[in-house]
Amino acid sequence: MDPSTQKPEITPGRKKSGTGGQKIRGTQLTEELRAYLKGQGADLVGFGSVSRLEGAPDIMNPSRYLPDAVTVISIGLHINEAACDLIARSVRDNQAPSSYHSYQMFTLSIINPQLDKLAYLGAKFLENFDYRAYPFPANMPHFQKPTKEYPGGPGDISHRHAGVACGLGDIGWHNLFITTQYGARQKMTTIVTNAPLEPDPVLEERLCEPEACGFQCADACPTGAIPGDINEKVTVKIGGKVVEYSKITGWRCRWGCSGMLKSTGGYRDIPMPAREPGSEELLEYKKQVDPWQERMKIYVGLIPYCGRCLSICPGR
Ligand code: SF4
Ligand code: SF4
Repeated sequence: MDPSTQKPEITPGRKKSGTGGQKIRGTQLTEELRAYLKGQGADLVGFGSVSRLEGAPDIMNPSRYLPDAVTVISIGLHINEAACDLIARSVRDNQAPSSYHSYQMFTLSIINPQLDKLAYLGAKFLENFDYRAYPFPANMPHFQKPTKEYPGGPGDISHRHAGVACGLGDIGWHNLFITTQYGARQKMTTIVTNAPLEPDPVLEERLCEPEACGFQCADACPTGAIPGDINEKVTVKIGGKVVEYSKITGWRCRWGCSGMLKSTGGYRDIPMPAREPGSEELLEYKKQVDPWQERMKIYVGLIPYCGRCLSICPGR
């Protein structure tokens, strides 16, 4: 057999040669990894057992990527508050914000590469102990071409469901991850590993009460993607916790997030069709985006638009 394809023998807790053969496992390894990731800049680090994600759709099942995975690790970065405040104020005042640039840069464009680095470093930390650890990209759709089931994603794994499984928070009515520390204002990434790390307890508290909040995210959504009716919900169970969030209309949200309306940061309004466009039709609509707006991507790469539901959300 080609030696490069042989699976290395797994000896839990044995640090690779050159590091003194130090032995740590379980709680100690968990806490060392948490401290290491926080030292590298992570604001949130949580651990959960893969079994808490039982029932995840096939394309997001961790064992599809690492067959003997037993632990999921969730890592988060707090995004810039003032940039979100600016978007929230623009929603309340019903006026365009002075600029979308800081929101685009400091809530996603520079955050994603840092999350990718943290996922890589966390996985490397565990592989130095002879475990296998599979890092996921922070933001890369599993399918680039939209499908009916997945109009704008998701990625290879759902970072928000993983975040719940790791005890870091809850999912809000707007479908975004919410934590007690930062509300909806963080971005997440995930690692799965065959290292048997110590799971954190699942957060019992609910961080979003849509009726008490008055469905502020639904009211702020300019594309009608978020329903304002409590019955239009998805219910899932993660590690025994019942998690409920709205049945969002994905293609409508992508219209906003792609900057196809002025109220979401676009340069021109591209009228939304009454029904979901097919993938080829969508390409035709996207051709209507102002070419000067598209030039921005040359300077900074992937940029988000909208963020109105995230910014207005009071949940925490
Ligand atoms: S705005 Fe309100 S209803 Fe929407 S996710 Fe936040 S707390 Fe929940
Ligand atoms: S990002 Fe914008 S378009 Fe998408 S759900 Fe939130 S408010 Fe609506």
